[in-house]
Amino acid sequence: MSAHSKRSIEMRTWFVILIAACIFFGLGGVYSLLTSTHQWGIAAAGIMVAYIFLIAYVGIQVARFGLIKSANFGALVGLFLAAFYLAGELIVAGLIEQVSIWQWYGGRWNDGYELFGAGSFAIKGFLWAVAYSLRILLILFVLPTAMLSEGERQFCELCKSSTTKTRWKSVVKSFDPAVLVGVSDLRSLMMLGGGSGGERGVWLRVRTCKCASLGELTVDQYKIEAEQRGDTIMKDSPISPIGLCRLVEWVRATDGSAELPGSDLDLEQFGANRQMFDLPLKPAGNEWESLHRWNGSGMGMEWGCDTEYTRAMRVLVGKGDFRAIEESLAMAEDINDIACIYEAGADWYDPQDWIGLWCDEQPGSSVAHTVAGINHVKRAWLERGGGWTPKHVPEFMGLLNLAMESFDRATAIDPENATAHAWKIYAGKGLGQEDERVRLYFDAATRSHPDFHAAHWMYFDYLTAKWYGSEEQCIGFAREVLKNRAAGSAALGVVAYAHFEIARERMEKDKKAGFMGYLNQPEVRSDIVRANDLAFTDHRMSMVTPRVRAFFAYMLWQLGETQGAKAHMEIIGKTTPWDPFSASVFFLSKETYTKARKACGL
Ligand SMILES: [Zn+2]
Repeated sequence: MSAHSKRSIEMRTWFVILIAACIFFGLGGVYSLLTSTHQWGIAAAGIMVAYIFLIAYVGIQVARFGLIKSANFGALVGLFLAAFYLAGELIVAGLIEQVSIWQWYGGRWNDGYELFGAGSFAIKGFLWAVAYSLRILLILFVLPTAMLSEGERQFCELCKSSTTKTRWKSVVKSFDPAVLVGVSDLRSLMMLGGGSGGERGVWLRVRTCKCASLGELTVDQYKIEAEQRGDTIMKDSPISPIGLCRLVEWVRATDGSAELPGSDLDLEQFGANRQMFDLPLKPAGNEWESLHRWNGSGMGMEWGCDTEYTRAMRVLVGKGDFRAIEESLAMAEDINDIACIYEAGADWYDPQDWIGLWCDEQPGSSVAHTVAGINHVKRAWLERGGGWTPKHVPEFMGLLNLAMESFDRATAIDPENATAHAWKIYAGKGLGQEDERVRLYFDAATRSHPDFHAAHWMYFDYLTAKWYGSEEQCIGFAREVLKNRAAGSAALGVVAYAHFEIARERMEKDKKAGFMGYLNQPEVRSDIVRANDLAFTDHRMSMVTPRVRAFFAYMLWQLGETQGAKAHMEIIGKTTPWDPFSASVFFLSKETYTKARKACGL
């Protein structure tokens, strides 16, 4: 369940790479067409240079559209695409001249390439081979390098540009060399007070995208006497507009003679003059539409999609405008909406500087510490990876301990903060805490909010056999929920999740009949049908409803309860991103959802 948005991102990446491979093959072919059918002579050098630029440009676009977020992966893809480009060149050249690749090489070696028209000086033999090899090496070097550097850079979806524009450079004086040793991030930098008469300064550079929503900060030491830059303190560290505002304030207060950003960097909009976030907290149709969350972590999730509401909120929050989270929470009443807003505010693939700044500025805010905690959980799982075998275990555990500290702080400030209690379950799961303790988190989260879906889902997940429970505990919990929850509660989704989980385990032992063999047992079937009827009688609609509905639609379809499944699918509409329905792979197979709709007569 938790892999869905990650899978979609990977699908997009692979799909773009596939198309790019075709494009690069075509580019190679066009190059051969240009140079084989026409004697350009010395002008071919110009075509070659233009082509190298074109290849690098297309490579950068592929890295952007393909959401390639790692430099190494970018370089690897670049190498792969370069191979396709060269294959295109060779194959088309062979086709045009009606020769095999080796005959083509032989022809070039013997006849060479005439530089100044027919019969003039020709590059041939060894000289041609060297020139040709150099060109190939250049392509093999330029394309991966372009994609490598693009993979490192942030890309802004709002203004469709990367963080390449240098907006502000400044030297801030003066510090003791000793105090600079402890500086590692924006927060520790802004703890420093300057003007101590020390012999060091810091050299700052901020690069942003066109609209300045995304930025990167580089900080070097600066030797005042020698007017020279020294060791790098921070390199290309992401900085939000709010972080940038705070940095400008800090520079102004620290060194009156330091250069401040020019007027083209409009930071006013993030300061006092910002707009309140006051979209109405209700769906456009009958129910919230589930939209894919592109820049989320795709990890450690309760809720992996956005609604129009949380998507709009995330545009502001992504700029570091954390007040949008507070404003949204102030409007939300349903605990499930509240939990979705919290998670939408905290779920980011890239590190977010504003979360730490927010906690520093408002240490008494339970909301700030909860967002920080959820973000730590997400970062922990990004370190760990989604697979069976955890990676980077010390970092994983360290981040989970930080998360637990944040949640403890949040619940100490506000013991009624159910979201903070609930996320302790998730952190506790990673930390391997015992059931007695984790159950207390669950009880604290649901005491005043029995409908709290996230708390139920997280505790159910803890109780699965793959974590710290067993089939019996899982089913015991599901039946407890079925017995105790009132009609209309989204928490009843857990009954379906628990039986699905066990059915899937049975499938691993018996691929053919394990899944349905389990679900078709009378008491299992009756649990699921009753939970569905109860959950959707006077259902209390919230942002988690589409997910719960999709899950029950799937289970009812599997059980042959066509009428019930159909009723859900009529509300869901033509597509759903929610598991256990899975998306098609490269259009080769039909989506299970489309199949299910057909089976139910839609
Ligand atoms: Zn931008």
